[in-house]
Amino acid sequence: MTTIVLKKGREESLLRFHPWIFSGAVASVSGTPYEGEVVEVVSSEHKFLAYGHYQKGSIAVRVLTFSQDYHPSTDGRMPLEFWEDRISRALALRRVLEFPSHGTDCFRLVHGEGDSLPGLVVDIYKDVAVLQAHSAGMYISVDLIAEAIMRCCGDMVKAVYNKSAATAPHKAGLDLVDGYVTTPSESDERAVSENGNLFYVNWASGQKTGFFLDQRDNRELVGEYSKGRKVLNLFCYTGGFSVYALNCGASSVVSVDSSAVAVEMLRRNVMLNTGSEDAAGRHTAVCADALDYLRDVSDGRFDLMVVDPPAFAKHRDALDNALRAYRRLNASAIGKIASGGLLFTYSCSQAVDRRTFELTVFSAAAQTGRRVRILRRLTQPADHPVSIYHPEGDYLKGLLLYVE
Ligand code: SAH
Repeated sequence: MTTIVLKKGREESLLRFHPWIFSGAVASVSGTPYEGEVVEVVSSEHKFLAYGHYQKGSIAVRVLTFSQDYHPSTDGRMPLEFWEDRISRALALRRVLEFPSHGTDCFRLVHGEGDSLPGLVVDIYKDVAVLQAHSAGMYISVDLIAEAIMRCCGDMVKAVYNKSAATAPHKAGLDLVDGYVTTPSESDERAVSENGNLFYVNWASGQKTGFFLDQRDNRELVGEYSKGRKVLNLFCYTGGFSVYALNCGASSVVSVDSSAVAVEMLRRNVMLNTGSEDAAGRHTAVCADALDYLRDVSDGRFDLMVVDPPAFAKHRDALDNALRAYRRLNASAIGKIASGGLLFTYSCSQAVDRRTFELTVFSAAAQTGRRVRILRRLTQPADHPVSIYHPEGDYLKGLLLYVE
């Protein structure tokens, strides 16, 4: 097994259970670990600290365990028992949260660091688990992870799909393909239910694992305020917020997304919930750039807006441009919304912390000269837990603003 020795004093963050080891903290590496190999991490005094997945790049090791309860196998991977332990704990939490429940049969089973599995996401859509590896180590363990999911979930899960080709590291020399790890499901699509709202989810053609489960609570909140309102849903994807708004009695909903595949699914979702393609004249689907669309919106036309863009800052070096984009977008939305309007605005960029996002939105508001108040600070739902040792996991930030 490869051993990674840390520089003197650099074990501090590990002793506080932070799960990332940056390459700058590494003093020496015994041998040449392969990308994704489980390595042993020791202090400068050669005391055991952790086992984790090794990878070339700024995060050199993602920690899997700070104990020696489980040891890597001779092939350099964690054994099946380790994965079963982690998955069963993740499942135990979801049972506490009452997933699945009568109205909701889609939820996140594994949320990376929040479930002590850095680099791994697993979403459940009815009877199919869709997993996404963000690290080489998770990617090469997909067969073991799938087996652990099948064993722990029993009848609940019938198939596991690996949707990692776009998320696993491209430079690691892995053969990246999407596909079933188990016996394939007869279809790549399910109609799922979220708080009683219905959605088609297709993990093969969709973005991420197929659906944005992280907005569940926020969609419910939008529903609560939608009755009688004229709603604009920007970056709508397959219509999550739009369907809630329609089902809760919005007088009209316009949904905008630049992806034609997403807009097609949005139309199907509106049909599924309302029985008509345009919700009897209440819904308009638009395939366009959100900022372009907003530019042409007349002042006061909408009194509830949802602004949920993709992560503008995927990395720290893109931060300045991302903040400018958030400012421009929010200034435009705040400037256009009707008096007495409600704006739900979000950032899912991990590189943008909550305070920075809020300051950016505040400066956008100031730019418009309108009177704006914060009604709520918004975040991700409980099946996307944040480890207290990894505050970066608190990635979904939102504000509900009242604009006079
Ligand atoms: N609110 C959605 C999730 C949004 S994800 C939900 O509840 O499900 C971000 C979406 O923004 C994606 O669907 C992506 O296709 C879309 N998108 C990215 N860039 C865009 C742009 N410039 N204009 C409009 N949509 C865009």
